Amino acid sequence: MDNLWDTNAAAGFGDDVALRVYSSRLLGRDKSLVLHGGGNTSVKVAQPNAFGETEDILYVKGSGWDLETIAAAGFSPVRLDHLKRLAQLPALPDPAMVNELVTHLTRASAPVPSIEAILHAILPYKFVDHTHADAVVTVTNTEGGEARIRKIYGDAVVVIPYVMPGFDLARACAQEFARQAGPQTIGMVLMNHGIFSFGASARESYDRMIDLVGRAEDYLKHHHAWDIDWTAAAPKADAALTLAKLRKDVSDAAGFPLVVARQADVRSMAFAKRPDIATISQQGPATPDHVIRTKRLPLLGRHVAAYAAAYRAYFAAHEPLAQERKTILDVAPRVILDAELGLCTVGRSAKDANVIAEIYAHTMDIIARATALGGYRALPAQDIFEVEYWDLEQAKLKKGGQAPAFAGEVALVTGAASGIGKACVDALLARGAAVVGLDLNPAITNLYRRADFLGIPCDVTEEAQLKNALARTADAYGGLDMLVLNAGIFPGGCRIDALKTEEWRRVMSVNLDANLVLMREAHPFLKLAPRHGRVVIIGSKNVPAPGPGAAAYSASKSALNQLARVAALEWGGDGIRVNSLHPNAVFDTGIWTDAVLASRAAHYGMTVEDYKRNNVLRTEVTSRDVAELAAEMCGSLFAKTTGAQLPVDGGNDRVI
Ligand SMILES: [Zn+2]
Repeated sequence: MDNLWDTNAAAGFGDDVALRVYSSRLLGRDKSLVLHGGGNTSVKVAQPNAFGETEDILYVKGSGWDLETIAAAGFSPVRLDHLKRLAQLPALPDPAMVNELVTHLTRASAPVPSIEAILHAILPYKFVDHTHADAVVTVTNTEGGEARIRKIYGDAVVVIPYVMPGFDLARACAQEFARQAGPQTIGMVLMNHGIFSFGASARESYDRMIDLVGRAEDYLKHHHAWDIDWTAAAPKADAALTLAKLRKDVSDAAGFPLVVARQADVRSMAFAKRPDIATISQQGPATPDHVIRTKRLPLLGRHVAAYAAAYRAYFAAHEPLAQERKTILDVAPRVILDAELGLCTVGRSAKDANVIAEIYAHTMDIIARATALGGYRALPAQDIFEVEYWDLEQAKLKKGGQAPAFAGEVALVTGAASGIGKACVDALLARGAAVVGLDLNPAITNLYRRADFLGIPCDVTEEAQLKNALARTADAYGGLDMLVLNAGIFPGGCRIDALKTEEWRRVMSVNLDANLVLMREAHPFLKLAPRHGRVVIIGSKNVPAPGPGAAAYSASKSALNQLARVAALEWGGDGIRVNSLHPNAVFDTGIWTDAVLASRAAHYGMTVEDYKRNNVLRTEVTSRDVAELAAEMCGSLFAKTTGAQLPVDGGNDRVI
């Protein structure tokens, strides 16, 4: 366990709250300590109120903030005396507790304080740090875990048996702390949950956290339960359609589309293939708050319906024991372990699926190490159920918020690095889809650095490259729902009598043949789209109204148009909709430099402004206009439309 404290860096953080920010980020940076919003920290500060009286304030991590990136604004200042009084109540329902926390803030704009605020308040130390450290959680989740913890730490820590986070845990800690703590105490272990450290300074509390977690790591090393031999056979090749089928089943079980992200790294493959996988993977999460993202158990194999039935049975068994009635969550798994595929994680967005993958990567280490130590033992199902169906989580569910139109869906756009293609990427991302962009330009790889975008350099005229792009799409997101065929070339004007055969064939191969191959190869995926596949073809005004000097371009786009109409007929039975857009005179793209525009305008004796608006509506048509319409054609507005051709050209008298 590395101690990351840097005296020079820390010197740049002035007061107690600033130092609290500094050391919280150090904790957050180490994923073996906290993951994605897990863990929390606090500092107690005396400061004057509006009357000039000094008040003790607990600055505690606010919900919605991550330790790794937290700022001073992420700490919620709560009146400490009030928190200490609350800790003495015999009982307090968690929603009422949160109300007390929020109504005793000293800054109205502060986030809702962590539900562990009262627990921080009762610990009599200026700085308090709390993590779900892998090594500590590993030891506590074993047979005889408490005895091991006492052996590792002696009387340096207070040990708290598992209690659900919230008011009851704070109360239990208050009682146990008074009983067990002494001058030698530097931390507190919560069985099956995590660890606290504390101290008079930010540094002391941080150093103690690193020291305590390091001792648990040393214990695991000493017991040959640290280094795990992850070796595995190669993952299944040609898994793309298997993934798409799995995603369809998972989405059907949930009742809405979900992204499936596959991890076929050595650890994931080796873990999924372990002979004891059916036992060790079916115990429960490493720490209870993971259940909100991962659900209690992974699906083993690909039988989604059986998982859904088991999940309903789990709900039916534990719900009657709850004090208030609960609403069942969707019954789809979030983690899938399959001997052929490896680890698949499931989310409403690509970001969610990736977060779950990271949590489960740590979970695999924890389970493997605990197994090596003598056996992984997670909490009983009822305890996990209580966290999964906690009042405040259920309240969030009821408040709900509308999901974006394409949440959980996947789109692929060709010619995506610039112009209309890039605008289509933007329009689809804005509607919540995960988007794969193909382009000849290698800059596509770095067009966006975000979980829901995958840029793949690709020559669309190369069949093998298209197939590879679809395979990568399936690995990253689980399948394909929407296909936007945009890539195309427009060679300079050339009359038929001078048109070279090679030129004709080149235009045909990009504008027509490549689209046939991509449509053919994408069809099995589109057929498995949870809400039915959609194809949008970026055609051209030249289809209804060709011009001289553009024989190859006009012929290729017209043939593509006919291909789309046949696809609409052939694929309608699969629920796949195929529609075309015919843009004209879209000038905000790479080919139209200012110089080219000026020369074309001059050629027609117009100003550039008039030339841009040379249509019936006297309006400029932008890439964004075309892209927004393309995205809408994938949406519910066009749910009953296929085989349509729509101009987006400001009105063209020849077309009209
Ligand atoms: Zn915790």
